[in-house]
Amino acid sequence: MTMCALPAVTGFLAEIRQDGGRPLEPVFASLGSRATPGERTADQSLRTVLLHSGAPDGAYAHARGRTLVLAGELYNQDELVRLLPGHALPDSDAALVLALFGRYDVHAFRLLNGRFAALVAAPGRAVLATDHAGSVPLYVSAAPGRVLAATEAKALRTAPEGRPVAARPVRRLPGTHQVPAGTVLDIEVATGNPVTHRTWAPPLARRIVREEEAVESVRRALERAVRVRTGGGTPLVVLSGGIDSSTVAALAARRSAGPIGTVSMGTEEADEFPQARVVAGHLGSAHREVTITTADLLRRLPHAVWAAECLDADIIEYLLPLTALYLELGGTGRRVLTGYGADIPLGGMHREDRLPELDTAVCHDMDTFDGLNEMTPTLSGIGGHWSTHPYWDRDVLDLLVSLEAGLKRRYGQDKWVLRAAMGDVLPHEVVVRPKLGVHEGSGTTSSFTRLLTDAGVPPDRVRDAKRLVVRELFDLVVVDGRHPDEVATGAVVELVTDRLASGARPVPR
Ligand code: ATP
Ligand code: MG
Repeated sequence: MTMCALPAVTGFLAEIRQDGGRPLEPVFASLGSRATPGERTADQSLRTVLLHSGAPDGAYAHARGRTLVLAGELYNQDELVRLLPGHALPDSDAALVLALFGRYDVHAFRLLNGRFAALVAAPGRAVLATDHAGSVPLYVSAAPGRVLAATEAKALRTAPEGRPVAARPVRRLPGTHQVPAGTVLDIEVATGNPVTHRTWAPPLARRIVREEEAVESVRRALERAVRVRTGGGTPLVVLSGGIDSSTVAALAARRSAGPIGTVSMGTEEADEFPQARVVAGHLGSAHREVTITTADLLRRLPHAVWAAECLDADIIEYLLPLTALYLELGGTGRRVLTGYGADIPLGGMHREDRLPELDTAVCHDMDTFDGLNEMTPTLSGIGGHWSTHPYWDRDVLDLLVSLEAGLKRRYGQDKWVLRAAMGDVLPHEVVVRPKLGVHEGSGTTSSFTRLLTDAGVPPDRVRDAKRLVVRELFDLVVVDGRHPDEVATGAVVELVTDRLASGARPVPR
């Protein structure tokens, strides 16, 4: 299997029915051509809408009465193939997973290291699976005789009401739930009853290893994670010049025959162009700087919520500059590597020396990432691209989370083990550069705050107002299915400001 710029399928809607109801007409934020393969047996039908990049068959496999649909890709095919008779690699990730399902049933999903959401339609069963991180969101609406699943909640917005399942309900879409990260829901179609299997959980224990061993294993794990995400191609790295993305760019450049692409975004409010230029110059990458006006950045707020289907205003602030950048990239679908997510297992947001607090932050962030959709491929999918996150590779994540906190904060440096692992590849000034969050380096937090205070929101209500704006946007572009181009950020801000001024109570957390 050679690695293409985009996976065969990047999103789907699947309807498994015994009730013969009318098919949905789904809306997706992700771009892609559509194919609609289906199957019919005596007792149920499967209808799918696949968002594909030219070869939908690579994500759709059918054997022995079972059909598998896979949005996304796998990163450990070399290990997985050893589990199959004759070690013969099937010709697609979907066929590989279906062969493993034939052997291990739901437990096949415990074996996968990937970025995917999957559905298996088997006689009387609908099996839904997310990767360890839930990095490709998956939503379900189940009722007796009918199981509907999709990689975007808005694709299910007109689904008839489903019954409760043991998963997170989606705001104002009754009976639609998000499948948790690292989970298989095995649903009996006749009743709509699910059995839940957890396939991954963040490590709770911490490993005590010598410095050199920790540094060496972090380097090896990251090299592999970058290699399996690039194949022989030349990826585009979204580069700030911070240690996380510079590491990814450096490891990708070492593997690439030609210069990799790098791109950096900034606004008139703030940028990290000089820092990114140092790294791009060092690596000899084909580098681009994209300046987005603050007004245009804020105009993309509805698009960020539309893509991420997220109600958390802090997360939307992290994702907004990237959303705006992905929409500006242009060209045909690129494979984008990002340094996003390194701070979660390494406690990089924690800016002081104490280890108990650092590990408390890591535990908290690993307990609460699920459902925020920070790594959803839809963010780049709205520009027709495919993003992938080496730090949230299953093996990298297991390793980083499990290192004892003293390896993460050491010699007065945050993310020490990562910086030490990259000492021979990046310029010293990059290795020791202090963290600057994407929301800070692009001026997103400050410009969103100013948008609200200029509209009359008192400073102590800005957090509430941000939460209300994001919620209102979610209702418009996800629940009501409006296109974000038709939603004016300014009008939503005005509405929220009026609501706060009229004495509405603080927004519950
Ligand atoms: P550090 O955490 O040390 O600042 P970083 O800048 O690489 O490293 P974050 O600040 O956490 O990481 O940002 C998350 C990711 O978003 C980055 O790794 C990078 O891929 C992307 N990113 C951040 N800022 C920019 C930017 N200005 N232009 C392009 N991509 C960016
Ligand atoms: Mg940064």
